[in-house]
Amino acid sequence: MAISLDDPVSEIPFVGPLYQKRLKKLEIETVEDLLHHIPSRYVDFRHTSQISKLRAGEVVTVQGQLVSITNIKTKTSKLMQIGKFSDGEDAINIMWFNQPYLLRSLKPGTILSVSGKVSFWQKKLCFIAPQYEKLVDDQPVHTGRIVPIYHETSGLSSKWIRSRVNYLLQCIDTLILDDFIPKKQLTDLELQDYKSSITAIHKPADSNDAKLARERLAFNELLKIQLENNFNRIKWEKYKKSHQINVSKKDIELFLSKMPFELTKSQTRSIEEIVKDLKDIPPMNRLLEGDVGSGKTVVAAFAAYASHKNRLQSVFMAPTQILAQQHYDTLKGLLKPFNIKVSLITSSGIKKDFDEEDLIIGTHALIFKKANFEEVGLVVIDEQHRFGVKQRALLAEKAEKSGKAPNVLTMTATPIPRTVALTLYGDLDLSTLDEMPKGRQKITTWIVPPKKRDSAYEWIANEIKKEKSQAFVVCPLIEESEAESLKTVKSAIKQFEGLKKIFKNYKLGLMHGRLKVKEKDEVIADFRAKKIDILVSTPVVEVGVDIPNATIMLIETADRFGLAQLHQLRGRVGRGAKKSYCLLFTENTSKKVQNRLEALKSAQNGRELAEIDLSMRGAGEVFGIKQHGIGELKIANWQDIDLIKKSRKFADEIVANQKSHQKIIQYFQKMRKVDN
Ligand code: ADP
Ligand code: MG
Repeated sequence: MAISLDDPVSEIPFVGPLYQKRLKKLEIETVEDLLHHIPSRYVDFRHTSQISKLRAGEVVTVQGQLVSITNIKTKTSKLMQIGKFSDGEDAINIMWFNQPYLLRSLKPGTILSVSGKVSFWQKKLCFIAPQYEKLVDDQPVHTGRIVPIYHETSGLSSKWIRSRVNYLLQCIDTLILDDFIPKKQLTDLELQDYKSSITAIHKPADSNDAKLARERLAFNELLKIQLENNFNRIKWEKYKKSHQINVSKKDIELFLSKMPFELTKSQTRSIEEIVKDLKDIPPMNRLLEGDVGSGKTVVAAFAAYASHKNRLQSVFMAPTQILAQQHYDTLKGLLKPFNIKVSLITSSGIKKDFDEEDLIIGTHALIFKKANFEEVGLVVIDEQHRFGVKQRALLAEKAEKSGKAPNVLTMTATPIPRTVALTLYGDLDLSTLDEMPKGRQKITTWIVPPKKRDSAYEWIANEIKKEKSQAFVVCPLIEESEAESLKTVKSAIKQFEGLKKIFKNYKLGLMHGRLKVKEKDEVIADFRAKKIDILVSTPVVEVGVDIPNATIMLIETADRFGLAQLHQLRGRVGRGAKKSYCLLFTENTSKKVQNRLEALKSAQNGRELAEIDLSMRGAGEVFGIKQHGIGELKIANWQDIDLIKKSRKFADEIVANQKSHQKIIQYFQKMRKVDN
C-alpha cells in the first residue's frame, strides 16, 4: 500500500515512536501535517565553487572527497574533528567540535557535498561545522540548493525534518492526486496549484517560487478560516435568541464608583458598546482588542456584573491555568463590592455542574466540563488563538440544546488591523482599547551587547534592592538543543543555574512548560507574594501575567523574537507606578537585527511594532524569520489584505452555492485540524 496523506507519521520510513512523539510536539501527526510544516526561512546554498577559488566570508557549496579525518584534543581537552577535503585540484580543512562519532560515519574516500561559510583558522581557509551530506547519485538535499530551515524542537533538527519531507516529496504524485480547487477557478484566483506549491515551499527553485507557493498555502489557510466562520455564523444565526441583559444607568454608575481607578475613555466606550449588545435580542459576539496593559479585564468584569444583575451566570475562559488563577484573583477583587460568587475551576475539576456560582473561571476546557449552559448569560474568552473561533463553534452546539446562545466577549492583544478583523472575522463586532490607563510610564528599553552583560546584572541587582522591585528573565527554550538554528539559544534551566551564582543574595524562581500545573501555580504565587526576586522563565510569561511590582524585563537572545512578541513580553512590566525597564540581550551584531531591536526603543505600541516588523521583513519575507507563538495564522499574515479579501469572496461564493463546491467543502471538513 502506498502511503497516504491521512497516514500517521509512523508510516514514513525511519519515523519510529520516539520521532513520532517529538513530531507531535510540533503538532505534526500525519503525513499531511508534515507537508504543511512550512519552512520558517531558507538558506541560499546555490552558489557552487572550486576549492582553489574560495574566499573567506563567502557562502558556498563545494563537492569533493574526504581525504582524511582525525580527532584532535583542544587545550580545554575537548575533542575536535578535522577533515581534509579535496575536489581533486585543491584541498581545505573542515572542522567539527565534539563529534567524535563522525569518524565512524565519515570514512576517508566518502564523496561529500559541503555548504557553508568559508572561515579562517590558523591562517588557513576552512569550513567550520558546515552543512554536509554524503553525495549518492541523486540531488543533494541539505546543500547546494535553497535549503529550508524549519521550526524545530529538541531532538528534531531541520536536517532531520528536511530528509523526511524530501522522502515525501519523492512520492508527492501518489500523495496529492488533484487540486480541490478546479483549474479554471485557480486561474481566476491567480493562484498556483496545490501540489506544486507543496513541492515549491520545501524545495523552491528561487525566491519567487517560494513566494508563490506560500501565497497558495496561505490562501488555503485563510479559506479554511473563512469557511469555518461562515458555517459558524449560519449555525449561530439559527439561535438568534440570547438572554437579554439589561443594565440601568444607575447600575453602571454603581459599578464604576466601586472600581479602584477611573476608567479610560476607551474602556468606558467599550462598556457602552457591550451594554447595547447585551440588551439586543441577537447574542453578543464582540471582540475586545487592546494592547497589553490597556485594561481589558475590567471591561470583562463589567460584563459579568451585568450578567449577574440579570440573575445569570457568567463563564470566563483563560488560555492557561495560571491565567485563570490570576483572573480569579483580579475578578474576585473587582467584583467583591457586588456580592458576586466567583469560583475557580482547576484542572482536576469538580464534577458538579457549578450551578451555584455566579462567575466561573477556568481554562477553555470549561466548555467541555460544564454541561448546563442554559443559565449562562455571558461567556468571556481571553487571549484565544484565532479569537475563539473554535469556542464559538462549540457554544453554538451547546446552544442547540438549550435553545439560547450566550453572549460572547472575546479578548485579544493581537494587533490586528481593523480592516482585517472585519474581513477575516466578519461575524464579530469590534471594540478597541486604544489608550493606556493614566499614569503609565514609558518603559525604558536597552539593547545589551555581550560585553555589557556583567554591568547589566550589577545594575539589576542594585535596582531590585533599591526599589524593592522584581525582575523577569526570559529565555527562548528550556533545553539546550544541538539543532543548527538554535545554537545561540540559552536554556532557561542553565540560565537559572548560572544566574543563581551571579545573584547570590537574591531569591530566584524557575518557570517553564515542563512544570506541573500545580508547580507553575506555586511559582507564580511566590513571585506575586514577593518570595521570589527574579523569575527565570521560558516565554510562557508572555500572555497576560500581571505582576505590578515587577519592573525589569530581561530578554535573552532577543533577536530570536519578533517585535510584536518582544513587545508582549515587555508589557509584563510597567504595570505599576514604578519606573520600568526592558533589557534586550543579544549577541547578534548584524545591522538588520540591531535596527529591528532599535525600533523597540522608540515605539511603545503593539500595532506600530507589528507594522515595523513586517515592513522590515519586506518583500523578501519568505527568506526571513517567521514569528512563532504570536500570530494566530501559521502561514498567512495580517498584512496579506488582498489575499484575505480574495479568500473572503471565494468563501462567500462557496457557502452561497454549496452544491457546486462540494469538493472544496469536503476537503476542509475532512481536515483533521479544523480547530485552532
Ligand atoms: P490587559 O489588557 O493586558 O489584560 P489588564 O486588564 O491586566 O490588562 O490591566 C493591566 C493593569 O492595569 C492592571 O493592573 C489593572 O488593574 C490596571 N488598570 C486597568 N484599567 C485601569 C485604569 N483605567 N486606570 C488605572 N489602572 C488600570
Ligand atoms: Mg489580560
